Amino acid sequence: SREWHLTARPQGWPKPADFALREAAIPELGPGQVLVRNLYMSVDPYMRGRMNDVKSYAPPYQLDQPMHGGAVGVVIASQAEGLNIGDHVLHGLGWREYAVLDAKHSITVDPEVAPLSSYLGVLGMPGLTAYAGLLRVAAFKEGDAVFVSGAAGAVGSQVGQIARLKGASRVIGSAGSDEKVRVLVEEYGFDAAFNYKSGPVAEQLKKAAPDGIDVYFDNVGGEHLEAAISSLNVHGRAALCGMIAQYNATEPPAAPRNLALVIGKRLRLEGLLVGDHGDLKEQFVEEVGGWIREGKLHYRETVVEGIDNGVEAFLGLLRGENTGKMVVKLAD
Ligand code: NDP
Repeated sequence: SREWHLTARPQGWPKPADFALREAAIPELGPGQVLVRNLYMSVDPYMRGRMNDVKSYAPPYQLDQPMHGGAVGVVIASQAEGLNIGDHVLHGLGWREYAVLDAKHSITVDPEVAPLSSYLGVLGMPGLTAYAGLLRVAAFKEGDAVFVSGAAGAVGSQVGQIARLKGASRVIGSAGSDEKVRVLVEEYGFDAAFNYKSGPVAEQLKKAAPDGIDVYFDNVGGEHLEAAISSLNVHGRAALCGMIAQYNATEPPAAPRNLALVIGKRLRLEGLLVGDHGDLKEQFVEEVGGWIREGKLHYRETVVEGIDNGVEAFLGLLRGENTGKMVVKLAD
């Protein structure tokens, strides 16, 4: 079985030489364990943080050890009651072809109910992040004008659509290409969208939201957060979900420089961790699953083929080569 190891801690942008795809023996199954053939694995922005040797909400990857991450696979051997050969499971031992794990650390998923990859994206962790972040952390209410950055990605594309479906007065998104901007408006029903690479974010946001915004969902940080603080209306709320613009930075960010506005406008800026919101999962799957079945919520995935391309997929995610959730397909 092949698995990806981190072999050096990246300085700035990770490079292929910081990783190695290595052969490893498959351990014997113990009681309560299953052997899973991974079919899809997730690559996610938070993994960049786990490559640094710093204390954070997710522990750092160890050098010369397999990396971890979300994956969906099929059980091919079982010593666990309740899990049989042929069952599909979601679990945390991605970045490898085969995984041996305790059955209690997996969740059974049904490929008849939804495509397997969607359990890593629109119906999985990123989807719940969007749902809980917008509705609970940002306390979205009908009539709010919402701005989301990283809007063509897994989390962002869902934030904008949930806001639209829940009665936002205006939904604005930013993304890194004209094609992504087109998808936001034409496929996802955003009222306005702009390419943040085409000009200053603050100017483009003011044009897209002439009456200001009530909610900002931050996936990017930096210049985007500064622009949002300027455009937020009195008593506006921001859910701080991610700051991908600085994950590879070697210098601290220059922005936001306008934090003092938070006082006068009585803004609320609140950090968000999806792990705090597991209690919303059932409600989220029911509501979002329903919207998908009814054709009201759209999603895309960017699927990279083969374990060999796992690191390239991760680097591509950081470069913005994905529209919607980036996943790696390992086997049929
Ligand atoms: P995405 O699918 O959004 O992929 C990442 C995207 O980030 C890229 O496609 C790229 O799109 C964009 N990007 C990369 N660099 C920059 C930059 N310098 N400035 C602006 N945009 C950039 O990933 P996810 O949906 O999985 O995650 C989105 C955010 O949410 C991340 O910040 C992530 O860390 C965070 N997150 C937080 C969670 C939590 O619990 N707090 C849980 C899950 C995700 P483009 O072409 O538009 O540049």
